[in-house]
Amino acid sequence: MAEYDLLVLGAGPAGSSAAVTAARAGLRVALIDKHSFPRDKLCGGGFTGRSMRYFQQIFGAEAPDTPILHRTAISFCAFGHEVGHFTDVPPLHMTMRRDLDHALLRAAISAGATDLTGQKVLAIDAEAPAVTLDSGIVSAPLLVAADGVNSPTARLLFGAAFDRSEIGFALEVELPLDAPPVTPVRIDFGAADWGYGWDFPKTCGRTIGVGGVMRRNTNLKSSLNAYLGYLGVHTDSPVKGQFLPFGAYRRQPGRGKVLLAGDAAGLVDPITGEGIAYALKSGQLASESVLAALGAGMPDQALSNYRTALGPIHRAITQARLIRPLIFLPALRKGFVAGFRNSSTLRAEYLQLLAGKTEYGQITRRTVARLPNLLARSLTQ
Ligand SMILES: Cc1cc2nc3c(=O)[nH]c(=O)nc-3n(C[C@H](O)[C@H](O)[C@H](O)COP(=O)(O)OP(=O)(O)OC[C@H]3O[C@@H](n4cnc5c(N)ncnc54)[C@H](O)[C@@H]3O)c2cc1C
Repeated sequence: MAEYDLLVLGAGPAGSSAAVTAARAGLRVALIDKHSFPRDKLCGGGFTGRSMRYFQQIFGAEAPDTPILHRTAISFCAFGHEVGHFTDVPPLHMTMRRDLDHALLRAAISAGATDLTGQKVLAIDAEAPAVTLDSGIVSAPLLVAADGVNSPTARLLFGAAFDRSEIGFALEVELPLDAPPVTPVRIDFGAADWGYGWDFPKTCGRTIGVGGVMRRNTNLKSSLNAYLGYLGVHTDSPVKGQFLPFGAYRRQPGRGKVLLAGDAAGLVDPITGEGIAYALKSGQLASESVLAALGAGMPDQALSNYRTALGPIHRAITQARLIRPLIFLPALRKGFVAGFRNSSTLRAEYLQLLAGKTEYGQITRRTVARLPNLLARSLTQ
């Protein structure tokens, strides 16, 4: 059995962030993934200003070592109406997850984490904790499980990886191109029910998808086809789908000596669908919680440290869930469309949110103040 100070299961953004944080602080970290990298991950690859800021803080570098298309132009549509095109917004960074995650993993390995990717995971023992790989057993006082939306660890701890009544689902196609497209970043609210569509330019093509609350989208394939038709795109590229933990975070982000991070803890923004930023942040917070607990000689305290540290993210997701009906409830839609089209403040707030320069707390307070206006618009437009 190989002994470490920390096991990290899953080498996506959450896992690599946890590993780099712990390894830089001197812990012996095993970073485990069932895939060899580079590997594909279904994702729009939209790396927002918030993600970039967290990346810089955690990895101590200017930008991930991967091809990035930086864009400052964005188009918004809502329920089939153009609501704004902007050419000078805070930069949005468009990546391919295959390359991005590989770059984050390389950074974690250079920081000193032991590379145990490309290993078959035969068993997870949450009590020990220990993980049985085809190369042998690894164990440590604590385990950060960042094993994604279908998290086998969350299933082991709680019987299910997520709540099917709350989960989101998304479909995507990749359109390979020889050069970056001239199209702006595009977001279409309502392209899926209680969800949205996206058309993201990349250095090597376009990623187009739709995603929304799964129980409200019984035929998401037809929403994707309608969206592709609306964009005038004809493609034979394969359609791929994946669950998206759209705002149903785990109140208890782990159990005993196991801390769940990223999608495994349900940390996706329920309005923007953004998950990379919270994956990076939660990985960092998990390892900082581990470091504090191990430093105090009380590993059992890591989970309660972590739950406290996640408070601001949990609050932000709760606030976003409260705002979500104002966008998607059919009775309020007209008000939202008119408000978004006419209010430069509302649009600026959305962009500031993506840039990580404002939080939902501020937006919630302003939204409540605007509520009478929104209702009046919905009734009169
Ligand atoms: C279609 C779609 C589009 C999206 N677009 C965006 C976007 O544009 N911007 C954005 O910010 N977010 C987006 N998201 C959300 C984002 O992809 C996730 O929130 C993010 O990937 C979470 O990172 P993570 O590290 O928690 O999990 P993941 O990135 O899923 O990584 C989990 C890792 O765990 C590994 N693993 C799983 N099971 C095991 C096992 N048994 N043993 C070992 N390893 C295991 C996997 O191989 C994987 O490498 C999108 C999601 C979807 C589905």
